[in-house]
Amino acid sequence: QLSGAHSVGVMTRTSDAPARMLPEPPGLTADMRARVADALRRPAAQQPPWPDPDAVARASAALAGRPSLTTLTEVDRLSAQLAAVARGEAFLLQGGDCAETFAENTEAHIRANVRTLLQMAVVLTYAAGIPVVKVGRMAGQFAKPRSSPVDALGLPVFRGDNVNSLAPDPAARTPDPARMLRAYADSGSTLNLVRSLTGSGMADLTRVHDWNRDFVRTSPAGARYEALATEITRSLRFMSACGADHSALHRTELFVSHEALLLDYEAAMLRVDESGPESRLYAASGHFLWIGERTREPDGAHIAFAELVANPIGLKIGPSTTPQLAVEYVERLDPHGVPGRLTLISRMGSERIRDVLPGIVEKVTASGHQVVWQCDPMHGNTHEAPSGYKTRRFKHIVDEVRGFFEVHRSLGTHPGGIHVELTGDDVTECLGGAQEISDTELAGRYESACDPRLNSQQSLELAFLIAEVLRG
Ligand code: PEP
Ligand code: MN
Repeated sequence: QLSGAHSVGVMTRTSDAPARMLPEPPGLTADMRARVADALRRPAAQQPPWPDPDAVARASAALAGRPSLTTLTEVDRLSAQLAAVARGEAFLLQGGDCAETFAENTEAHIRANVRTLLQMAVVLTYAAGIPVVKVGRMAGQFAKPRSSPVDALGLPVFRGDNVNSLAPDPAARTPDPARMLRAYADSGSTLNLVRSLTGSGMADLTRVHDWNRDFVRTSPAGARYEALATEITRSLRFMSACGADHSALHRTELFVSHEALLLDYEAAMLRVDESGPESRLYAASGHFLWIGERTREPDGAHIAFAELVANPIGLKIGPSTTPQLAVEYVERLDPHGVPGRLTLISRMGSERIRDVLPGIVEKVTASGHQVVWQCDPMHGNTHEAPSGYKTRRFKHIVDEVRGFFEVHRSLGTHPGGIHVELTGDDVTECLGGAQEISDTELAGRYESACDPRLNSQQSLELAFLIAEVLRG
């Protein structure tokens, strides 16, 4: 069964992991402790069947004693930017691997993904004429929800490198909590590189635009985007001729995000920030965390966990979501009416979005809450190719994004952003695009550990196509 075919009504509970350890970060107040315990006591879908609860407790304790990966200062800065998105004053670009892996966590791969996001952001910033908030699916995207506990070979399914290994043998597939420490360490090294790259030369606007000009020159679809690229070149020359040399032209900030799926990891990475007038609990495993389509059971542990933390929260909503349910989520996850606190990430499929999204947007808007509306055009458009590969058609992805913009235009609401699975590597996982990747070509470079990603060219092409839509 593919992700796209999933609906929350058929959610399977793998294990309720009753032995889940409560984190004890310094500064946890009695009230926080009680709320965390209450959240984690609830049924949790998609948790691994850890064979040894003592080993989980040891790994959790080790994690709870490590430094935070992110600070609340950074998280609050992202929250302020997402508030601007919710008010219609900025656009949110979020993307990266479906699943990061330890093996692929190389400098080349991280650089390529960061570069692709920055390239897309330049095109979108120019076309939208408003700031683009950049969030990578990286530095923590190591746990995956699965549609079945076993794979096609009858082995325990791969649940992400935070849990077990993709290698098809029973020992490698046995969940191992020590992997959470490796995921923490890998997230830390990724974040270190991301902060360093975006704070220095790599984010230089002229340089990023030069890469885009290379794309336009070499892509079969390049001619179509040449006019836009030339306009950007002229704007950059104009700014430089005027002597405009603001630091914002040379560096940027890329926030990191992942699905808050593996509760033992997330609970152990809770931290208390005591710098303000009152202590605040936040998830120090990333900046932005989202709850997936398979774990958004309203009475479950994941939603309760999301309620606890100060981080901005995303919620995936598939085509079974009713307007009523959407409003219930919004009231739970944004109780104080903070613009941008919640991002509703619709993943409806290109055939459903125009029918299903309007009712949800209308009812949530009428509730008075200001959410970020974000389109994930990937997860509702997955199918199995005749070759057996799980894939997506570029044209369906583009069509869902178009549908998303149409819905918001007709309702007068702000199409806040997109959420895509992509890589800067030259993979062959999604069909079509200007390179016209065909079914028989999927085998060439199909490297995803989970879902098919847009490659660097398809990602850029998507950004240019959205730029056309933004400019009407
Ligand atoms: C994902 O984003 O990789 C994912 C599993 O999405 P969803 O929860 O929307 O199926
Ligand atoms: Mn995915």
